Amino acid sequence: MYILVINSGSSSIKYQLFLQHSDQPVCSGLIERIGQDNGLITHEIFRADVAQTLKLEQSIKDHETGMQAMAGLLTREDIAMIDNAAQIGTIGHRVVHGGETLTKPTVITAEVKEKIMALYALAPLHNPGHIKGIEVAEKLFPAATQIAVFDTAFHQTLPERAFRYAIPDKFYLEDGIRVYGFHGISHQYVAGAAITWLKDPGAKLITIHLGNGCSMAAVSGGRCIDTSMGLTPLDGLVMGTRSGAIDPSVLLYLQQQKGYTAEQLTGLLNKQSGMLGLTGYNDMRDISRLYHENDPAAKLAYELYAYRIKKFIGAYTAALNGLDALVFTAGVGENDALTRELVCRDMEFLGINIDIAKNQLREKGLRDLTAGGGRTRILVIPTNEELAIARECRRLGAEGH
Ligand code: ADP
Repeated sequence: MYILVINSGSSSIKYQLFLQHSDQPVCSGLIERIGQDNGLITHEIFRADVAQTLKLEQSIKDHETGMQAMAGLLTREDIAMIDNAAQIGTIGHRVVHGGETLTKPTVITAEVKEKIMALYALAPLHNPGHIKGIEVAEKLFPAATQIAVFDTAFHQTLPERAFRYAIPDKFYLEDGIRVYGFHGISHQYVAGAAITWLKDPGAKLITIHLGNGCSMAAVSGGRCIDTSMGLTPLDGLVMGTRSGAIDPSVLLYLQQQKGYTAEQLTGLLNKQSGMLGLTGYNDMRDISRLYHENDPAAKLAYELYAYRIKKFIGAYTAALNGLDALVFTAGVGENDALTRELVCRDMEFLGINIDIAKNQLREKGLRDLTAGGGRTRILVIPTNEELAIARECRRLGAEGH
């Protein structure tokens, strides 16, 4: 039997297929530009260490068409990974927002779907796409057990002092306005790997997920005690196109003095800010090239990006009352030596001392960049959200749900 992992967004679906008891995917894919005429499916199969990639351009009018195309590719004779849909026993869905009630991987029932829908107001960009993905999967794979794994769940252990905002109670009680935190599947996965590697279940860790979206988590003994994103994935660190933390008065100023609408502010802070707003680019590869060419905007943007991370390291070390390891992960965290170097610079007082040469090496898997004498481990751990979801499906299956 197989486990299919699905990450269904508003206009894209990512998927990976795992054999029930293996951590290696047998195929993966990305369906992009759903709802447009120029949809694109990238389907990769991994056979006996040989990877094969197919790219298909076709109109993908909705999620159902996209998933049907995926199911067709999984069983297409020349590249078939399965004989028929019934071989998929479990489907694991990434769901961004589980609110306060969906706090662990859960078998999807009508009631669970209702709860995910009830959170649309808090996750308008994500949860509707997840529900579409779930409903199409239920139709196409009726025999499979559908499981939801939530990005907010890992952060549900935050103490109230960390998850409440200092605004009147009623906004929390009536509207659920509080810190939820995101990227939880990734933070939990790399924290677990760090704990195993350190052989210290009580380790005090700061996990730093730097992708297009960026967030940090303070983890003590495997439990998350604080995180940098908030009600939405906009708070905290400087990101590819998101501002991260900003004085709320900036919004009021733009609204009152410049006539910005709520929609314009949403676009400004989510899509036109962050590294893009500071440099004109949102991909760190472009910005790092400019940094090395001494471009002043790129220099400032990198410094701001790293400085924000440093401040969170300071704050979380205080919250944890100590620090055993920093863990860098995701696209930038795993690949960008410059970010790691700037973050770790002038942090000896916390026992953070990065080995500059090791930091430059490009190696796969877990890496330890701690220089001799460094008291705090500096680790790079590749994240793998799909595998984390597949493992949760396996665990729930073994428990007989
Ligand atoms: P997502 O948040 O979409 O899952 P990823 O974790 O894949 O994102 O990270 C994507 C980002 O990682 C890209 O925008 C890019 O800035 C950065 N990135 C990827 N590869 C490299 C690299 N070799 N060097 C620097 N940055 C990189």
